[in-house]
Amino acid sequence: LAKAEGRGGYQLFATTLRDKFEEKANLERELRNAVASEAFAVHYQPQVSLQGGKVIGVEALVRWEISGRNVAPGEFLPVAEKAGLMPAIGRIVFAKAIRTGAEWHRAGIDFGRLSLNVSAQELREADFAGRLLDLLKAEGLPTRLVALEIVESVMLDDENSGIGLTLKRLRKAGIRLELDDFGTGYASLAHISANEVDRLKIDRRFVRDIDKNPANSKIVKAIIELARGLGISIVAEGAETDVELSWLHELGCPAVQGYGIAFPMPGSQAEAWLATHSAGPQRTDTSHVA
Ligand code: C2E
Ligand code: MG
Ligand code: MG
Ligand code: MG
Repeated sequence: LAKAEGRGGYQLFATTLRDKFEEKANLERELRNAVASEAFAVHYQPQVSLQGGKVIGVEALVRWEISGRNVAPGEFLPVAEKAGLMPAIGRIVFAKAIRTGAEWHRAGIDFGRLSLNVSAQELREADFAGRLLDLLKAEGLPTRLVALEIVESVMLDDENSGIGLTLKRLRKAGIRLELDDFGTGYASLAHISANEVDRLKIDRRFVRDIDKNPANSKIVKAIIELARGLGISIVAEGAETDVELSWLHELGCPAVQGYGIAFPMPGSQAEAWLATHSAGPQRTDTSHVA
């Protein structure tokens, strides 16, 4: 260490490192406060059928604002994971999202299915399945209106122990299981069967520039064919432009989620969006996804 002292480059590097460390420590402290005061919001992003634009689902996404700044999940969730705070954050998100879903259900608002993201750390909590089923019952949201989104690496857990049993129990109770960010993780094809998952979510990186990137369109086409062959449904993530939407339609992709359809929105805004889009096929402004 002493050797490098006095050299401008090292000094700069050391300062940056220390700043980064302090930043992380601050973020963790703020996260603990946020957990204690349940200061997380949930936004909802619609998923629609490419055959007519009908709403097939809404994904619940955690939001955290601290002193006027929106901290992205990609920034704070890894810190939460390291600090063991995922289960606590998940409980707050689930409580809010399930309450909202139950309200919509009671009000007759068609949202398809409520998709909840869940991490391995949350799934490993004692009696995760029992608590989720109790919560759904208490709030009045039927299990058939709920899906869990997991990333591929979660599937690698032994299917006959821990997480595997939890997921089996929840599926048996009627909750759908979806593989998020499909194509970017570590699941072997052995795990991709209709016995284990209900839907694959094609990762955004394959959707981006699908019109300009032949590899992407080939990958998307192959994933769609794979899923169809296995009897698993599909949704493409992150479709932003009309061109991407029509390419997905051309390739036979049945459903999409992305800024090109709608951004994630606060509950009240999502409710208004759902109310005007529940007519689906009759809408003229969804003609680009006809
Ligand atoms: P994800 O589950 O793959 O969610 C989709 C992400 O893509 C969201 O980012 C969404 O806002 C973003 N997105 C949707 N459409 C588009 C698009 O057209 N273009 C672009 N560029 N992005 C789009 P977000 O909300 O930042 O969340 C990031 C990740 O954090 C999620 O990825 C998920 O893995 C995780 N996450 C979010 N909320 C929760 C939660 O409540 N619990 C857990 N365990 N994880 C969560
Ligand atoms: Mg997701
Ligand atoms: Mg995803
Ligand atoms: Mg992701």
